[in-house]
Amino acid sequence: MRYIDEYRNPLLARGLLDRIAALAGRIGRPVTLMEVCGSHTQAIGRYGIRSLLPPSIRLVSGPGCPVCVTSIRDVDAAHHLAALPGLIFAVFGDMMRVPGTGGKTLQQLRASGAEIRVVPSALDIVAMAENEPGGEVVFMGIGFETTAPTVAAALRTADRKGIGNLSVLSVHKLVPPALRLLLADPALNLDGFLCPGHVSTMIGSRAYAFIAEAGRAAVVTGFEPVDILEGLLMLLEQVDAPRREVAIQYSRGVRPEGNPRAMALMHEVFETGDAEWRGLGTIEGSGLSISRAYERFDARKRFAIPEMASAEVPGCACGEILRGIREPATCPLFRRLCTPADPVGPCMVSSEGTCAAHYRYG
Ligand code: SF4
Repeated sequence: MRYIDEYRNPLLARGLLDRIAALAGRIGRPVTLMEVCGSHTQAIGRYGIRSLLPPSIRLVSGPGCPVCVTSIRDVDAAHHLAALPGLIFAVFGDMMRVPGTGGKTLQQLRASGAEIRVVPSALDIVAMAENEPGGEVVFMGIGFETTAPTVAAALRTADRKGIGNLSVLSVHKLVPPALRLLLADPALNLDGFLCPGHVSTMIGSRAYAFIAEAGRAAVVTGFEPVDILEGLLMLLEQVDAPRREVAIQYSRGVRPEGNPRAMALMHEVFETGDAEWRGLGTIEGSGLSISRAYERFDARKRFAIPEMASAEVPGCACGEILRGIREPATCPLFRRLCTPADPVGPCMVSSEGTCAAHYRYG
């Protein structure tokens, strides 16, 4: 086991960069790799990794930020619920500034009187419901396989305690179906994926077997600079060889089987269905809705959410950026009208968003 300083060691990083450059030269063609984790996008920006790679290695960002991939329709549904009188709407902080149709945000709704509370963890919603026996608490459940088990744990606790005033608007999403879609996108023509570290602690590296079966490289990678460079080197080693596999660079956090207990809990409380992603459209089997056994906690069943005429923010290119086919700097609003202090689209709102990372780190 290495100590954390080793994962930031400049000499190790230099050595890995030299090996990446040598391998890129031997491969002798352009290689396109995608990172699909918001934390990777942040770290790659913070450490300037993209600028250190040989010009033939293109590293594109994918749909790794849960706030960014939440569809405008789901944002509008959240805004509808949050504005209902007598209801307490609980949400993670990043969602507060994501604009819905017409540009309104939860922050603005709260300023105009809606009872909206930011929670740091889904586990807080049980105590919130217990402390508000006369009110209805609705939590916006957002995130990938990393977050959904925590929401599942909260709902199981609420179920055991007989709590009757809590529900969840589930917009949780599953990562592998989105990667399948991107794998088949001829506009991207990907050679491989830098697979997410955190999600993989839950689902395990075996969940990406379809990537290797499709003849592409996959490496589950950690978040320090040496992790990312080692992950990229391991990807290029696969690109250079006939073999394809799902390798684990982040071995201190990820096992091939993942965390079966957390996954069992997630599948007890949620069931898999189709989900709409911003930029990617509706992806079969990529969403988690609340299972029949827990349906009394389903905000979509508890409250009537009307069909709304949802529309993306005009001029925002988040959809194409999330598909990896466009860079933030090509959006005419980037830096001019859209900044982290005054974001126009979700990719600039969240610190894990691609536009926010490009704004901060160039
Ligand atoms: Fe959307 Fe702003 Fe990014 Fe442009 S810079 S794509 S408006 S978030």
